[in-house]
Amino acid sequence: VARQRSEALDFLRRDARAEPRGLSSAEMSPLWGSRQRLPAFALGPQICAAIRRHQVTLILGATGCGKTTQVPQFILEDFLQRSAHCRIVATQPRRISAVSVAERVAKERNTRLGESVSFKIRFEDKIEDTTQVVFCTVGILLKVMQSNPNLDGATHIIVDEVHERDLHTDFLLILLRRVLNERPDLKLVLMSATVDPSAFQSYFEGIHTVSIPGKTNFPIQELFLEEILPKLPDRPGWRRSGKSNSKGSMGQKPLPVPQDERALAEALQLPMDLATDLAWVHQQRPEDIDYELVVQVVQMIHGSNEPGGILIFMPGWFELPTWEQQAIFAPQSGRKVVVATVLAETSITVEDIVYVVDCGRSRSTFLNEDTKISALRTVWYSKANGFQRRGRAGRCRPGVWFRLFSSLQWEAMDEYQLPEMQRSPLEELCLEVASLQLGRPVDFLAEALSPPSKEVLQHALELLHRLGAVTDAEGHSLTPLGEQLARLQVHPMLGKLLLLSVPFRCHNQMLTICASLGYKSPFQCPMGMEKAANQARLNLAQKSRSDLIALVNAYEGWRVGKRDFARRNFLSHETLDYIHRLREDLRSTSREVLSTVPEDHTDPDDLAEACKAVLTAGLFPNLAWLQRRGKGKSISGLPVVVHPGSVNSTEEWSTVVFYEIQETSNRFLYDSTVVGLAPSLLFAPSRSWREVHRGKRVVVELEQSWHVAVDVQVADELFKLRQLVANFLD
Ligand code: ADP
Ligand code: MG
Repeated sequence: VARQRSEALDFLRRDARAEPRGLSSAEMSPLWGSRQRLPAFALGPQICAAIRRHQVTLILGATGCGKTTQVPQFILEDFLQRSAHCRIVATQPRRISAVSVAERVAKERNTRLGESVSFKIRFEDKIEDTTQVVFCTVGILLKVMQSNPNLDGATHIIVDEVHERDLHTDFLLILLRRVLNERPDLKLVLMSATVDPSAFQSYFEGIHTVSIPGKTNFPIQELFLEEILPKLPDRPGWRRSGKSNSKGSMGQKPLPVPQDERALAEALQLPMDLATDLAWVHQQRPEDIDYELVVQVVQMIHGSNEPGGILIFMPGWFELPTWEQQAIFAPQSGRKVVVATVLAETSITVEDIVYVVDCGRSRSTFLNEDTKISALRTVWYSKANGFQRRGRAGRCRPGVWFRLFSSLQWEAMDEYQLPEMQRSPLEELCLEVASLQLGRPVDFLAEALSPPSKEVLQHALELLHRLGAVTDAEGHSLTPLGEQLARLQVHPMLGKLLLLSVPFRCHNQMLTICASLGYKSPFQCPMGMEKAANQARLNLAQKSRSDLIALVNAYEGWRVGKRDFARRNFLSHETLDYIHRLREDLRSTSREVLSTVPEDHTDPDDLAEACKAVLTAGLFPNLAWLQRRGKGKSISGLPVVVHPGSVNSTEEWSTVVFYEIQETSNRFLYDSTVVGLAPSLLFAPSRSWREVHRGKRVVVELEQSWHVAVDVQVADELFKLRQLVANFLD
């Protein structure tokens, strides 16, 4: 069954039957004229010649010059002219860009989506027999390579936006470099607007670089904060506090720029009042977003009565549900204001954007190398991100790039972001390397463009070893448990939750929990309605004191009540719909992996207890002890706070397990569940059990400096039960 499934996934091996429509249809398209005006267009023949002559080609060119939309068409047209067949796979960093680029290119070719150009993303496959250009996510291509490692059937692989350096793309590049040796006929094309070519030039032997000259279609005015501030109608409140409003030591330090107003006035030749404001801005940490400033800039643009849409780049996960994402592409008569994250940075063109308002921050996962805790963190972006954002303006008419930081801050920023492989946890990747039998993860990942640190790798392998997924701490091979975890295709921690849910008879609940934790939370908290949203979540949690059980109840309610239920309970219908699809997928893979799944508990209290036991056992060591109003310490001694949106935000004197920490203004716990002492003693892998007080009490050491004392008889019972669980997992 698994084999059939993976073959159905492999669109490369499907036979191309019918002849695609020829060149003439593209020339008939109303967009033919605008294609011809793109800077890339004149270079079409040169690009094709380079690709024909070299196995690997790097194409550089300013944003908007036509790389993403034109290069696949150049190759296609080159083949059509010679009546030859090609199959081009072009990866995109995100689902939304794969879809929107495919739609655009189909329109440019005057064809129906699927006819010669199409896309494939998870759960959506628009490929037909005649499709010759496929836009897909990196994840999809990696999946195809599991069953078709040499990419038989593909003639060209295009990796777009290679500057992003995300974990999956870097992993893909290691595999592709190996495939190129096996398949001398396969062509690889890398594309980016803002990449350091030298790194790639030494990585791919004999790589040929083509630079597309020329700027973007229209000029872009570039403004720094010192130029924006004097234009604002007023600047209230800025000097009110006089000091940075950041608390604690979360996140990045301020950039190394002068914070003294006199030095600033001199360095930038500014009047004193402006220098004072700027000095204050310079003290800000990246997480101190000045929303007031953003609003003022937008109001100023709107007040100017000049036409054009505004694209605002914010760092966070602004929960933009899919329908809202689609809506941004529809031209509107009023002023369009789009709030976006890094998502809008690459590959997509929102048609009438003229103004880009850029906070200069991004949010991504960082692994703290000391504590080994990974956290979502808001950081100053790199200049490369900035150039990408600038490129979102001026696509259809002259634009303005409002940078909400000073020229000195810009100069202090890094040129490029640290590749994800060097800042994120690696256990999922190591599990994948081991399951694909690519050798020791340490050796395999040493072949990466930017190999990860030995220490982080070691930590990932230890974690897998502790989970019982690999046979030894080197990650040579997988245990039977590890094989099951790899086949489940979720984070190993979530996989373990799924496996444990079987003996604890709460499999359906855990499917929902894992689908959501692996994707995102459906809970929404619209600005100004926080109270009502929190109350809705509390109602859903009933008496469970668990965000995850609230989530299960939300999903169950939504299955019956759909959109209406979602609206009433501050849930995203679109997110739940996607969670549902992920859950169905996970359910069928679980069925293949697990031999039998017994009926779940029917009593709601039993179910909740079972879920808590599984969460305790599976999420360890993500455990924290709360003292006052949601504040407490994690098991490794770090101060933590339950996120205010959680049902446990006012919990006192209790133990919680959690899945994720996000560091913003505080170290916030998301998705927490209060667990009793018994489950944590029962299922958390503890270090030692020690009898004290003349054999009357037993002290259990859960982790360094985390001790619990229990009655000796209770301890005895607990110990026996622990053995039972351990035996089951073995
Ligand atoms: P690059 O990849 O070099 O940044 P693209 O190929 O994405 O450039 O886009 C080239 C040009 O095509 C854009 O500058 C824009 O004028 C036009 N374009 C691309 N996609 C769309 C779209 N969805 N709607 C309107 N115009 C688009
Ligand atoms: Mg592009």
